[in-house]
Amino acid sequence: MDYRRVVIKVGTSTLTDETGALDRVYIASLAMQCAAEHRSGSDMVLVSSGAIRAGTEQWENYVGQPAAPLSRATIPFKQAMAAIGQPLLMQAYLAAFGAYDLPVAQVLLTREDFGERHRFLHARNTLQQLLKMGVVPVINENDTVATEEIRFGDNDTLAAMVASLLDADLLILLSDVEGLYERDERGRYTRLVREVHRLDESIWRMAQGSGSRVGTGGMITKLQAAQIATTSGVTMVIAHGRHEGIIHHICRGRDFVGTVFHPQPRKLCHRKRWLAYGLPASGAIMVNEGAKQRIVADGKSLLPAGVLSCEGHFLPQQVVELRDESGRVFARGFTNYSSEEVARIAGCQTAQIEQRLGFKRADEIIHRDNLVLVYSAS
Ligand code: GLU
Repeated sequence: MDYRRVVIKVGTSTLTDETGALDRVYIASLAMQCAAEHRSGSDMVLVSSGAIRAGTEQWENYVGQPAAPLSRATIPFKQAMAAIGQPLLMQAYLAAFGAYDLPVAQVLLTREDFGERHRFLHARNTLQQLLKMGVVPVINENDTVATEEIRFGDNDTLAAMVASLLDADLLILLSDVEGLYERDERGRYTRLVREVHRLDESIWRMAQGSGSRVGTGGMITKLQAAQIATTSGVTMVIAHGRHEGIIHHICRGRDFVGTVFHPQPRKLCHRKRWLAYGLPASGAIMVNEGAKQRIVADGKSLLPAGVLSCEGHFLPQQVVELRDESGRVFARGFTNYSSEEVARIAGCQTAQIEQRLGFKRADEIIHRDNLVLVYSAS
């Protein structure tokens, strides 16, 4: 296998020991493996969790008593712990990669960095520059400033957005699970799924109800990451981070235990990826089954006739979600009409738009060039 650019996400439970302290022996092995791939010519990017937990452990040492469990901690407390933990994380990476003369750089990102075009381009340019200089960027969410409503919250999604932004070839999610498991009717894990070619309903069902003990992600967030990665042309692998030489095995296409998600045959262009995953939606339009079918199966535009109602307040050119009759989001697009206008033309024929509004901006509420299909678990 020839993976030119590799993004590796390491979860909190993989990076820290049972007390919450950073596991420096593990970080050293991570650096050794990354350095080997780097020497063979691959750009390496690390997306690292662990700041909040390592910060908490440090704080507990300062005050000499245990903090409340993180699952019950307030957001400001976690943000403060991230601020304490992030330099510890970087200190550990500097030392570990330094042993291989490999420079590292800290890059902290928020969701807004992916939503606004100029910030998105800035982030991409900086990362490209670092890679060109042979540096390994170590990325985390900027937890201390990320606002609750829009934070990624889990680094699985962030890592997939980074892999997409950088047009990486491979994204590896190193976790405390081996991969995606099939489950029986009682919800018990049965068999490890080795390869996924299409993220269909049966795959999403396998992920329901799974979670991690100390990190924030579960299998759902990993599948969301797989959706972003595979529609961006990136191969994604979930594997247990503690298996010896796991990065090497995956990068060299050797036999390893884990789940591989293959890229979708039709990769989305950057504009559509940005529409699908980068921008927050300002509202939603509910459509009937016929309109959904025409959009999903035939790649058609959304016309007023298929609209049932709308939700939220949005203006022309803003991003809206399309929901089907069961309320499930299946697409996103840039609307030609505001929420108020959509409410007035809902269900009418295209020829009636002008009569209802006194003007016509376009025949379509959303043109197919401005629509992208997305999957959401029900
Ligand atoms: N950004 C969080 C941290 O560094 C981790 C989020 C996650 O668990 O994925 O602690």
